[in-house]
Amino acid sequence: MNYENSLHFARQLDKNDPLRRFRDQFHIPERDGQPLIYFCGNSLGLQPKAVQGVLAQELAVWQQHGVEGWFDRMDTSEGDQSWYTMHKRCKEPLAQIVGAEPSEVCPMNNLTINMHLMLTSFYQPTAQRTKILTIGGDFPSDQYALETHIKARGYNPDEVLIEVFPRSGNYTWHLDDILAAIEEHRDSLALVMMSGLHYYTGQVFDMATITRKAHEAGALCGFDLAHAIGNIPLHLHDWDVDFAFWCSYKYLNSGPGGVSGVFVHEKHHDANLIRLAGWWGYEEARRFEMKKGFVPMSGADGWQVSTPTILAMAVHLAAIQQTAAASMEALRRKSELLTGYLEAVLKESGYPLEIMTPENPAERGSQLSLLVRKDGKALFNRLVEEGIIGDWREPDCIRLAPAPLYNTFEEVWRVGQVFAEANSQPASN
Ligand SMILES: *Cc1c(COP(=O)(O)O)cnc(C)c1O
Repeated sequence: MNYENSLHFARQLDKNDPLRRFRDQFHIPERDGQPLIYFCGNSLGLQPKAVQGVLAQELAVWQQHGVEGWFDRMDTSEGDQSWYTMHKRCKEPLAQIVGAEPSEVCPMNNLTINMHLMLTSFYQPTAQRTKILTIGGDFPSDQYALETHIKARGYNPDEVLIEVFPRSGNYTWHLDDILAAIEEHRDSLALVMMSGLHYYTGQVFDMATITRKAHEAGALCGFDLAHAIGNIPLHLHDWDVDFAFWCSYKYLNSGPGGVSGVFVHEKHHDANLIRLAGWWGYEEARRFEMKKGFVPMSGADGWQVSTPTILAMAVHLAAIQQTAAASMEALRRKSELLTGYLEAVLKESGYPLEIMTPENPAERGSQLSLLVRKDGKALFNRLVEEGIIGDWREPDCIRLAPAPLYNTFEEVWRVGQVFAEANSQPASN
């Protein structure tokens, strides 16, 4: 696409945007009656307007029916609306979003908790295979969880955790380096686990190839999809990924601390894996017999531990239905254009900055991470003053994430204008 840096061109793209009706389905934050340019959906997605009604509905059920809410409304004209089966209604949209069978996904808990649940089952070191391979500098929670599981099995993270870093002078990883490291440790590798899309640089990893390589080496492979879900199309089942987990408050717009979820590939459903069992993962038909001896439900549901957080899940359900309705393919098409346009206007602004995110659209999602070595914080503050909300990472990084569900090309154009103004009229103090 040949982008033009003009308001007319941006408005033309908005007019032709097949997803434009979705913006109206969100509350866009305002200041002094003016909508803010919210480019922070990678951190906390905006609130779908549908959420308030959905919450009011569940609060009313609780108010009027108390405990009956669990089984109440199992038989309505819209089908089963009970709390007891709410997680099942999340499966279809989730399966669409991550490219899975409904039995392979289940919404539950929060991300880091699910990472621990998955590592308990899928990190099973043997005398020969003890190592976990990951990327260096992944999100801290991921680093801490890996360290925990390695220590819990009696190993030393310095010896068994293999971290692959970008080459010197690079911000992002070479796929070849990850594959070569898997090859190098092929006889002692138990697991490959890493982010599918790196939170800081916005780099997308080739999950299909990494999974294939891990399997060839005799290891399992899992991904943290915190920044990938709802951002890029995923095909977890076809890629043969063993397990994955995510949060829903970033690109899935399910609210602060919203419900997380897991993917467990079908091929592991009948395996007798060790898990941190709880009554909610027990065979559903016999759960209330309250018997001794854990019998898991088949599928990802068997990893449930606790009573679901119904109010948060009601919000989640409404939000993922919206994403599924837009379709990941259409979201991806718009996201490539939005991010490409942002890249073009930033470059044209002349502002001295370096984009850490890969230039190749196949290696990035809806995010550009900018390194602003000189007066980065002052620039960030100027953006905020101008009503542009991105996020700031010390010491010199600004992340801007235009979300295809609710952001516009006109907003991207406007961001470019503010960078150009900042370049030609630097703040005097
Ligand atoms: C956002 C994010 C998390 C956050 O984990 P929570 O348990 O939801 O606090 C973890 N890992 C990655 C890679 C993230 O981007």
